[in-house]
Amino acid sequence: MRIIDAHVHLYPPEVGLDPAAWAAAQGEPHWAALCTRCRRDGRPVQTFPTVDHLLREMDRQQVEVAVLQGWYWEKPETCVWQNRFFAECRKAHPDRLAAFATLHPAAGPAAVQDEIRWARDAGFCGLGELSPHSQHCRIDDPVLAVALELAGVSGLPVNLHVTDPTGRNYPGRVDTPLEDFRRLARAFPRTTFIFAHWGGGLALLEANPDIRDDLANVVYDTAASPLISDERIWRRVLEVVPVGKVLFGSDHPLVLYPKTESGPGWHGILAEIDRAGLSREEKALLLAGNAARLLRL
Ligand SMILES: [Zn+2]
Repeated sequence: MRIIDAHVHLYPPEVGLDPAAWAAAQGEPHWAALCTRCRRDGRPVQTFPTVDHLLREMDRQQVEVAVLQGWYWEKPETCVWQNRFFAECRKAHPDRLAAFATLHPAAGPAAVQDEIRWARDAGFCGLGELSPHSQHCRIDDPVLAVALELAGVSGLPVNLHVTDPTGRNYPGRVDTPLEDFRRLARAFPRTTFIFAHWGGGLALLEANPDIRDDLANVVYDTAASPLISDERIWRRVLEVVPVGKVLFGSDHPLVLYPKTESGPGWHGILAEIDRAGLSREEKALLLAGNAARLLRL
């Protein structure tokens, strides 16, 4: 069965050599707090594969396409730098890698619009992963509004990082109130949003018809699911939202099963989906069909 992972992170090799030093030099402390830390058992939360290593692992585990998500950097220039890197990756592997472009509203309205148009012309298929709350930006920031509006007009879905307000605390955690995301979805009805990590639980709240109406232009990805929920979540969400609203995403190269696995990989999360008892059609849509349609892959 075809597999498109809609939520993969990737960095140039210089980052992987010494991620903490790189982040310190770039002035990206929040990324460092989240991505370069170790768990209590001393093992790192994620690895830093090169593009070749990523492709080898995708081959081995039968993942056809990885959608590279940018990071919600604190500095506009880091966003541009990552976008250029993704453009190179795409050029080298157009059949295996798709990409979302990241941005920072502090770049100003002209630069942000130029970057979005550049990304669209370079074949990027969305914007993200963004996190206004982590990027020190108000949810009603006027430049963010310009970006979200242009994304809608340009047919670029926007991936937003959402944390579960009831989830556990961890170093670098930033609260992202669910009401803010509901407001954004309502304020930009022409824009398709991908709320990451099951929308921090918003997907389940669509059982409420008022919330469901407000989130008509929202889909969810499943990034990091094993770290934030037990495996009943797959069935539970699909009891509330149609399968067309769920995109498979892993958050690779995050280690998804730190108690039983030492590195990142897709086997565990795919096995969870197998055990969830979805129909063949549901699985095909969730694993690839929805992303292929939405991102025109
Ligand atoms: Zn995220």
